[in-house]
This record gives sequence, structure tokens and C-alpha cells, in this order.
Amino acid sequence: MNTQQILEIESKHSAGTYAKQPLVIVRGEGASLFDADGVEYLDCSSGHGVANLGHANPKVAEAIYKQASTLITLFESFPNDKRAELMKKLTSLVDGLDRVFLCNSGTESVEAAFKFARLSTGRKNIVAAMRAFHGRTYGALSATFNKKYREGFEPFVPGFSHVAYNNIEALEQAVNEETAAVILEVVQGEGGVHPATEEYMQAARRICDERGALLIVDEIQSGFGRTGKMFAVQHFDVMPDMLTCAKSLAGGVPMGAVLISSKVKNLTPGVHGSTFGGNPLSCAAALAALSVIEEEDLPRQALVKGAYLMDKLRRIESPLIREVRGKGLMIGIELKEKVAPYIKELQERNIIVLNAGMTVIRLLPPLVITYGQIDRLVGVLTEVLAVEPELVEA
Ligand SMILES: *Cc1c(COP(=O)(O)O)cnc(C)c1O
Repeated sequence: MNTQQILEIESKHSAGTYAKQPLVIVRGEGASLFDADGVEYLDCSSGHGVANLGHANPKVAEAIYKQASTLITLFESFPNDKRAELMKKLTSLVDGLDRVFLCNSGTESVEAAFKFARLSTGRKNIVAAMRAFHGRTYGALSATFNKKYREGFEPFVPGFSHVAYNNIEALEQAVNEETAAVILEVVQGEGGVHPATEEYMQAARRICDERGALLIVDEIQSGFGRTGKMFAVQHFDVMPDMLTCAKSLAGGVPMGAVLISSKVKNLTPGVHGSTFGGNPLSCAAALAALSVIEEEDLPRQALVKGAYLMDKLRRIESPLIREVRGKGLMIGIELKEKVAPYIKELQERNIIVLNAGMTVIRLLPPLVITYGQIDRLVGVLTEVLAVEPELVEA
């Protein structure tokens, strides 16, 4: 099949829910992706934050191969060596989160967290933030804010409300004795790359404690080293009651998880489950991914490379740039105009980036991106965001 045929088949037969890029990607290595003709692209999207380890990591590949030829599937009713090892590892990552529910995607981990919050507290209401993104199934979508994801799908699950992000007063007013949980991203991803302030996260913890609500942090995008810590909430002295994660958890193999504190009650046999959840294949991939994250100290790499990249971005002189912000290698460049033409231009110059809303270019490169690749990114961005001198003067 040639490139043209592949593009045609996908546009004809896919459900139609994706805006397809005019690129056929067939292979990856580190922070690079390759099209069918062998042309290289620098991947600054990591598949929306999945490929923190880079593409085709050999240790993850080997773990998948080995486990696939040993045992792929096993329902969680039956204990398994790889799953037990993963549970031990995952619950060692954050103090106080000693239990884990395993599933297969981000949105499923959010659904599980909401069900557990209602079951545990006997309360119905969930408070989420404006600009929040938590996934596209009904519970998660009810907590998601942006009209772009919600329009046409009403009615939503009852009991959800949204408050301004990083606004302590708004949280004080919204959380009460009927609130089961507050859910927050530590850095809002889809919503435009907005990091939470330390005071805000601490206030969220205090307000939840005072009113008997649970605090859920959604680390699906910000987790596994992305922001310079294993989890972004670890930048602060705040312990959530539940932490949702997925994306980079299993090195690219689909997997989600909720890490759970002992404050969450009533989790008894049968209340929730998942056919594929905790399958040995994903568990083996996750174990390999987590050991690579630790061996290569990817959180540290994200911290140092993120600071280097952010500094370079802030030095780009362009009247188009309103602000550069982020944490670690989760970076947003907010422009004064729509980003779509610039993202297209970057792609034509072999750099793949994401948007976050209409006016933010989002950079989520694999944490193994090299300094040479970072310099290449900055060079191309500088050219693309440069404006003709006569236009600047006018
Ligand atoms: C991607 C994402 C989700 C949804 O994850 P899926 O695996 O696509 O269901 C939820 N929350 C955040 C913060 C995300 O970035």
C-alpha cells in the first residue's frame, strides 16, 4: 500500500471523529518518527504525552515480547506475578497511596475515581475546574469543561459543577457537605498548559479535609516524569486521596490506574471491574517502563531539559508570543493569534507539536529528547514565529 492509498482508506473508513494529518507514520525511535518514505519528524507531541520514554524503547519492547509469549490475559480475580510486582511498584511511588485499581485508559481511571468517591462518601457531587479535561466517557466528560468536547452530548451525569482554576475563593464557595470529591489537573493540559499554584493545591487539600470531600488529582498527562517529578503533585506538599494516571504508564501500551489512599472506603468485591484491567501484558510493559524511568532518571531529565527549553523559548523575540509557561517538559507557548497555521508550518518543517485550545502551541516531547533536538526545535520555532520586520514596524 502506498501513502496515497493509506490516506484514502483511513479517510473513507475511519468513523470520521479525527482530523487526519496528511502524514503516514510507520516507525519511531527515541524522539523521532518516520514516514513511509523514511523522512524523519521530531515528535514534540509524544502521542499526547504517551511516549515519555521515546518510541520503540528496547527494554519495553523486550518485556512485551517476553510476556506475550508467556501469558497475555488474566482476569484480576486471579493473582499474577507481573501484576503483583506492578502493584507493589506503583504504590511505592506516592506516600499514602497504598492501593491501586488497574484499567485501560485515562478516562476509565477517572470514571473509577468518581465511582469510588461516591461510594466512599455516600455523596453525589463532583467539583471540577473550568478549562479541565478529564476524558470523553460520560462521567469524565461531565467533569470536562470545554464546549468543544461537550456540545451535542447532553444530558450529562448530574452532580457536576465547574469553578475557576487557581481561584481559592471559588473552591471555598463550591465545596460543601454534599461534595464527594474535587478533581483537579496539577497542570491543565488540553485547557492551555496552566500549572496550579502551590497555594491553590494546598488550599484544595485543606478545603476537602474541612468539608469531608475527597481530593482527586488527574495526572494522566502530567505523570511519569513529565513535569520534572514522577507526579506533578509531588512538587508540592500535598497528598491527594486518589491519583488518576494512564498515558505514559505502560510505555505506550494502553493502561490506566487509580492510586488510592486508605481514606477511600467501601471498595469491596464486585463494586467495580474491568475485563482487560491489570492484564499481565500491560503490567509487564508498565514494569519495564517504570524501571526505565528510574534508571534513566527521566523526571530529572524533564526538569533540566524543560528549564533549558523554556529559557530558550523565552528568548525568542517575536511579537506573536504572549507567554511561555509550563512545568518540566510540559510547555505552552501562548500566541496572540490562532496557532493552527503555525502548527501546520512546523509540521511542514518536520516538527510535530500539539495545540492546547486555539491560541496555545503545546510541547510534550519525549523526555529522552536530546539537546541537539531541542536546539533544532527552537531554531525552527524561531523561524516560524518570526514576523517580517516591515510588518512589525507597521
Ligand atoms: C488524555 C487525558 C485524559 C483522557 O485519557 P484517555 O486515555 O484519552 O481516555 C484524561 N485526563 C487528562 C488530564 C488527559 O490529559
